[in-house]
Amino acid sequence: MIQSIDTRLDDIRREKEQTPREIEKLEDDLDLLKKAMEQDLSSLEELKEGRRKVERELEEIEPRFKKSKARLNEVKSNKEYHAILKEIEELKELIFQKEEVVIKCMEEIEIQEKECANNGVRWEQSQKGYKNKEKQFLERMKELDSEVQSLNDRRTELSQKVDQDLLRTYNGLRMHLKGRVIAPVIDFVCQGCHLGIPPQQYNDLIKGDSLQSCPNCNRIIYWGGNNGL
Ligand SMILES: [Zn+2]
Repeated sequence: MIQSIDTRLDDIRREKEQTPREIEKLEDDLDLLKKAMEQDLSSLEELKEGRRKVERELEEIEPRFKKSKARLNEVKSNKEYHAILKEIEELKELIFQKEEVVIKCMEEIEIQEKECANNGVRWEQSQKGYKNKEKQFLERMKELDSEVQSLNDRRTELSQKVDQDLLRTYNGLRMHLKGRVIAPVIDFVCQGCHLGIPPQQYNDLIKGDSLQSCPNCNRIIYWGGNNGL
């Protein structure tokens, strides 16, 4: 039947429009993932830079600490001794605090490095998924194209066999009606628009000796069975 061929051709056209959008969505997902990965990498760099900064500060404190300790052996007065002792305590505390910061940084760096490694795995999986989808898509397009080809051949073949007036009306209707353009009428009701048709027309339809259109939706209508389309 020509109408079932055309319905299939409509489905194929819709599918061919839909699939590129699915591919685009995957591409968007990949872009998002890439941005997240770059963000994670730059966070990692910031953490490493922070750690280097505190380590440099520690390197500067170290000689001051040693110098103060050395001076402790050369003090002349009790007062001076206590002042240096206080200075040493303060430097010790400072070193302790900075070392704590370094440890904290190292923990965060470790976490962030794991995250970046996971991102790498995720990226590879997404890439693979995308490539598979793309391959499927191209294969599907090929399938659909060859189906279209054979449907069109079949349609041409059938077109030569049906009533040419009917075919012209049908093709004209297809231009401005979406979907089915031929509808059965059951109990006075057109199945295309679900509105009733006049009793006289219904009787003519049952007789089946003339081409009838629904007065409401203009679809070609028939009573029971099918008319070759
Ligand atoms: Zn109708």
